[in-house]
Amino acid sequence: MDAKKTVTIIVPCYNEEEALPVFYRAVCKVAEGLSQYALSLLLVNDGSRDGTLSVMRELARQDERVRYLSFSRNFGKEAAMFAGFCNAKGDYVAVMDADMQDPPELLPQMLAILEAGEYDSVATRRVTRAGEPPIRSFFARMFYKIINRISEADIVDGARDFRLMKREMVEAIVSMCEYNRFSKGIFGWIGFRTKWLPFQNVERVAGETKWSFWGLFKYSIDGIVNFSQAPLSLASLTGVLFTAVAFVMILFIIVRKLIFGDPVAGWASTICVILFIGGVQLLCMGIIGQYLAKTYLEVKHRPHYIIAETNDSDAQRVR
Ligand code: UDP
Ligand code: MG
Repeated sequence: MDAKKTVTIIVPCYNEEEALPVFYRAVCKVAEGLSQYALSLLLVNDGSRDGTLSVMRELARQDERVRYLSFSRNFGKEAAMFAGFCNAKGDYVAVMDADMQDPPELLPQMLAILEAGEYDSVATRRVTRAGEPPIRSFFARMFYKIINRISEADIVDGARDFRLMKREMVEAIVSMCEYNRFSKGIFGWIGFRTKWLPFQNVERVAGETKWSFWGLFKYSIDGIVNFSQAPLSLASLTGVLFTAVAFVMILFIIVRKLIFGDPVAGWASTICVILFIGGVQLLCMGIIGQYLAKTYLEVKHRPHYIIAETNDSDAQRVR
């Protein structure tokens, strides 16, 4: 008989001491029905301040299918997922949140789709945003509209990071070693054939979301800056437009002066125009600054993550 195919489930965890045991039990239950695969968990502790690490140690002690990587501090979910991808060994690799918002019951269906061979990855998207503040849903929708218009990466509204993929796709993701990571964009950018599974939004079982509105806003700016140069073109276009308008106005005033001898009146309007143009200039400089700041972080080549403790002797501790 062939050796069993291996499936690694990457679980980024930040302050999930309550949710993690619930998640673990749910995955074990699903794993029972998937005896044709060797399932293993790769838990990534992203510098939690609660007892998440002790929970991980305990799970790893009881169950040899559990590996954990514990960061030296909080590096963010993107870094946690990257560490997972770098250290996942399975033929199939999945990413799942620890809070049960990504239903483990979907796994058998996702595996079956990949086995059929037509797709390289199965991704999930939630079709409802129930349980989310309306204002957040509104801005989320706006974000997806804007980014899909201006970026070459195809980013699906409501897409979760929960997906199952083949080895080839994981290697492509790991090869993208950019410092400013935006996984939704990276998944779209690398291509491959992806099947989308819609599901109803589920609220987290315990603990609370780590995303503040401001945090999400900054993340969305990251997404735009990482996958689109449109804001830079917008800055240049604004410059061209303003120069053209100024040129026409100068001509108009010169001609009026020559024909009617009319001196230019209007201090107030002059100040308004100066303020307006000053504002547009600062905005454009800000846009350039955003790209420059990202470039600065990129060229420093700092590691994405630092692992302080792990039960996996092969783990790449810094990358
Ligand atoms: N997470 C993480 N590092 C962080 C923030 C979040 O590893 O800095 C993990 C968190 O533990 C969870 C997943 O990322 O497993 C999704 O986080 P959360 O549930 O807060 O986000 P939401 O589902 O509200 O988008
Ligand atoms: Mg969640």
